[in-house]
Amino acid sequence: QQVLKKSSSSKVSDNYLLGRILGKGAFGTVYVATNRKTSHAYACKSIDKAKLVSEEDRQDIQREVDVLNLVGQHPNVAELYHVFEDAKHVHLVLELCKGGELFDRVVSKGTFTEKMAADFFRTMVTVVEHMHQLGIMHRDIKPENFLLTTEDDSAVIKLADFGLSTYYKPGQRFNQIVGSAYYVAPEVLRRDYSFEADMWSLGVILYILLSGLPPFWGDTEEDIFKMVLKGDVDFKTAPWPNISAEAKDCVRKLLTMNPKQRPTADKILQHPWLKQQGAAPDKPI
Ligand code: ADP
Ligand code: MG
Repeated sequence: QQVLKKSSSSKVSDNYLLGRILGKGAFGTVYVATNRKTSHAYACKSIDKAKLVSEEDRQDIQREVDVLNLVGQHPNVAELYHVFEDAKHVHLVLELCKGGELFDRVVSKGTFTEKMAADFFRTMVTVVEHMHQLGIMHRDIKPENFLLTTEDDSAVIKLADFGLSTYYKPGQRFNQIVGSAYYVAPEVLRRDYSFEADMWSLGVILYILLSGLPPFWGDTEEDIFKMVLKGDVDFKTAPWPNISAEAKDCVRKLLTMNPKQRPTADKILQHPWLKQQGAAPDKPI
């Protein structure tokens, strides 16, 4: 059964050589793919059609392609170059992010300054701002979905994985619980949410970027959800006493329980800690 409305009529293997595995997700596997003509390396996300059980699953793949086509031009999105579909798979040929997931890099860095955190985080907010301007929410904002283009310090961050993204209209409410437990907003758990949920997830990421620990945690999903619904955030334990008041203020604003009072992407970009020559200190945390 055909999943996509439009895809290349040729075969992926005629055009690309699929190599080592870069990552695995719910529906498929991501490979390094080398273009047979140009030898240029890409990433190929091969989605197993057998795992798409419902009509909704199939629509999700179509939407992922549509969203990638809409936002793929943004400098901080992994661009979609080619789409193939055969009997067993849908293949999305994407810009290759050789640097892997952002958080592995942050963890391996050793010293990390607030300024570095602010620089990374500003870029993340900028992509989300762009999506919201287009009326699309991501719904799966988490560290694993931000990738780096190269292994060196000049690497650019790219948002990848638009598998849960969806269009929204002003005032439209959503009730489907999606995303990952650590990053999920309280209103999502209450099944009444909109784009502001992405801003909460960004707040969770910023908390982790600065402290290395998630703000809401537990042994089970249920335990994590309980903490999210309580919304108490610890700013007392190390390293928080060493972190600037502006940084804490920025996290606190994003982790506002009431989505109506939570800053939007363009609003938080005006925050003194996040501004280009902003208040973020350039000393190790
Ligand atoms: P899923 O929707 O199943 O979560 P993702 O699109 O997030 O799939 O891909 C799974 C993993 O594959 C990512 O977390 C990342 O490690 C790797 N990956 C995905 N896209 C790329 C890419 N463009 N370049 C490099 N690695 C990628
Ligand atoms: Mg993913």
